[in-house]
Amino acid sequence: MLLSGDPISVIDTGRYLSGRHCGYCSGSSGSAIFGFSAISLTVKDYQEFMDRGYRRSGSFMYKPDLLHSCCPQYAIRLAVSQYKPSKEHRQTINRFNRFVLGATYQDALYRHESAISKAHGKGKRNQEFDLLDAIHRAESSNLPPELSHIPRHHEFTVKLVAPIFTTEKFELFKHYQITCHHENEHEISQAGFKRFLCDNPFQLPPGYTYEENTKKLGLWHQMYYLDGDLIAMAVLDFLPNSVSGVYFMWREEYAKYSLGKLSACREAALALEENDEFYYMGLYIYSCQKMKYKSAFAPSQLLDPELYEYFRFDRFEPELSKCEYVTFADGPDHPDKHNRPQKGGAKGAQTEDEEENTPDDSISVFEADMPGVLSLEQVRATANLEHIQLIVNRYVYTAMVCVFFCLFEYVADLHERRASKLQAQKYSKSLKKRFWQLLPPSV
Ligand SMILES: [Zn+2]
Repeated sequence: MLLSGDPISVIDTGRYLSGRHCGYCSGSSGSAIFGFSAISLTVKDYQEFMDRGYRRSGSFMYKPDLLHSCCPQYAIRLAVSQYKPSKEHRQTINRFNRFVLGATYQDALYRHESAISKAHGKGKRNQEFDLLDAIHRAESSNLPPELSHIPRHHEFTVKLVAPIFTTEKFELFKHYQITCHHENEHEISQAGFKRFLCDNPFQLPPGYTYEENTKKLGLWHQMYYLDGDLIAMAVLDFLPNSVSGVYFMWREEYAKYSLGKLSACREAALALEENDEFYYMGLYIYSCQKMKYKSAFAPSQLLDPELYEYFRFDRFEPELSKCEYVTFADGPDHPDKHNRPQKGGAKGAQTEDEEENTPDDSISVFEADMPGVLSLEQVRATANLEHIQLIVNRYVYTAMVCVFFCLFEYVADLHERRASKLQAQKYSKSLKKRFWQLLPPSV
């Protein structure tokens, strides 16, 4: 029983969408997803959706169909307590710190820390790489006031702020989409930016405020300033047990500092500081070169699309190197699954996680043979449908819900088409027709 005032998740009807353009291999019709709009979502529910292969783009939730997509996208996450920064990660962080502070300042800082360490009887400063220390090392707010007379090359600050629209954020987004994703300027709108990176369905506790010391929850923007200019921004979801990277954008002139990798190191560190177990790195395509950096965060884990269990990347990799679709489920029932050789060559040109225009010819998810989705018969056999309430066109139905699942796509179409009354009436008619066809005679 739901108590009034409890946060609840409300989602719109879902649709299976196939034949979509794939931005990774530039295939014109190779991508398939199941997607729906979330009207409101608790952070806990979103975490559970992610562990079933969903991601969000604004308030649109989607789950790639790995079996029927040309470039299967696996959910990937990092167990942060086990993360040991690789040599490349350590070099990336150190190189950026040196760029900000300069050699003179870095030497002075090291001598200063060694002196403090000695004074406390600990001998010389420990030279071992410490992720949390290294990631914040160049931030102005962390530098000792005793060294303020020593010149530094740059001022670097990072802050987490509310996910609201500002012109400064939008200008960075526009620059990034043009330089990195080769979009045309006229295609990039403020409304699109808001929908993609500011809108979100999260239900936060009443009175929740976006302040520096608040427990982070829901969507936040992390801003990187160099000498007062916004040079990069991360869009992050804070969930009960994880930090999830939604998007990252940066100014092209800093490309040589590998800001993408640097931000991923920072987000892993952030998850540790928030006492979270995982850093969710979005979706991963094995054949996509631009995504290789994600699996380099060891020990990363990929989600099995059928078992909904995570397995370490090094267990997945020998299988992925041979075929595109991999599950560890025992599956003699789908013998053809393993016959898709890995083709390679996805370029990663797409703006990751961005919702695309969707075609109208959606089919029921039950007709799609999508991995990890129950069949209609399984739903009938296992779900206690009598206790689920569904609202369709203002009428509440409680029984035989499974038949209504087939109507979801039609109802969603009505929403889409409300601009056209004529079409809505046409759809309403076909909805009714299908509705009565599906209901058993006794109802
Ligand atoms: Zn593709």
